[in-house]
Amino acid sequence: MKVLVINAGSSSLKYQLLDMPAGEVVAKGLCERIGIDGKYKYEAKGQKLTGETPMANHSDAIRFLVSMLLDKENGVITDMKEIEAVGHRVVSGGEKLYESVLITAESKKAIEECIPLAPLHNPANLTGIEACEEVMPGVPQVAVFDTAFHAKMPKQAYVYAIPYEYYTKYGIRRYGFHGTSHRYVSEQCAKAMGKDIKDLRIITCHLGNGSSVSAVNGGVSVDTTMGLTPLEGLPMGTRSGNIDPAIVETICEREGLSVKEVLNILNKKSGVLGVSGVSSDFRDLCDAADQGNERAALAIDMFNYSVKKFIGAYAAAMGGVDAVVFTAGVGENDKAFRLQITEGLEFMGIKVDPVKNDIRGKFADISADGATVKTFVIPTNEELVIAMDTEAIVNK
Ligand code: AMP
Repeated sequence: MKVLVINAGSSSLKYQLLDMPAGEVVAKGLCERIGIDGKYKYEAKGQKLTGETPMANHSDAIRFLVSMLLDKENGVITDMKEIEAVGHRVVSGGEKLYESVLITAESKKAIEECIPLAPLHNPANLTGIEACEEVMPGVPQVAVFDTAFHAKMPKQAYVYAIPYEYYTKYGIRRYGFHGTSHRYVSEQCAKAMGKDIKDLRIITCHLGNGSSVSAVNGGVSVDTTMGLTPLEGLPMGTRSGNIDPAIVETICEREGLSVKEVLNILNKKSGVLGVSGVSSDFRDLCDAADQGNERAALAIDMFNYSVKKFIGAYAAAMGGVDAVVFTAGVGENDKAFRLQITEGLEFMGIKVDPVKNDIRGKFADISADGATVKTFVIPTNEELVIAMDTEAIVNK
């Protein structure tokens, strides 16, 4: 079965066509600047194409990508009917949508009801769903939620210590994100260890431009660093992560800004970008730090220190830890970050072998001999999880 996986943003649309159950990616691409001037990237059969094409809206983008998939020269299918299902990444499923669902009028309404929880993402995800309905009528579609893997967190981990009625009235609680990634790498970790995930306590560190750490106990996410929104937790590329909430009022007063403006700063101008003043890209930070930029070095130290603290916290939360997993852009690629984060955790049984750690972007067991806790690098694959869930639901 060929499954088209769609990740729709407000003006962009990423996609992959996967052959299931093998999970082979037969084509992938990106449509950007939808509604502006329309640009695309397309990759299949070892060819990479880029170009411009007018895309007034997401339906145009879907029509365009289908035409690329069908293209005589560079396409990979001969009939649109070969796309048997579509899987969509949807950011927030709130409290009601705690597992992947078939798209129906009812589930679409439920996704719409979650818009206040993900005002930037859910509307775009819905637009992608509706564009596929228009261009590929009758093809079953499935929504896979970023929040779903965290839906079984215990209440003590997800309720905020604010008046309880804000939870009951408005759903203000920790939801967590990157769930598809935490789920995938924790499952791969159990496989690599040859153990049933039910018997493992795993700490998964998704470290990229957006970053989060999760405590996965027996295959269930029991805590995670992101919260009501992705702003909470670790300092990230441009997000502040945890700060004293009173800082918001102080900045508003001192700078004469509204709460909305300060939240925009906390989301887009903070994190390692804000501290370093250099970049939100960790590679730029490393270059700057190497050249003696102290604030870039400080931003890196703050990031790694924060990850280290959550590893300690989550080991405590689970009464121990059997494995730590690094994934996403920084986690998969940067050996120095992995070393710095795990340095000093020998007391917990975590020790990384610098030679085994000398890898980039591929699976590796980087634990030192004698370490009682395994440390792995596991490339994440959210599209594969979306395709697997889609296939399973459509086949049901
Ligand atoms: P992601 O959000 O998972 O795509 O991760 C993006 C982040 O990963 C960017 O800040 C990149 O700078 C970072 N990254 C990618 N490759 C490397 C690398 N080789 N070393 C350090 N950081 C990297």
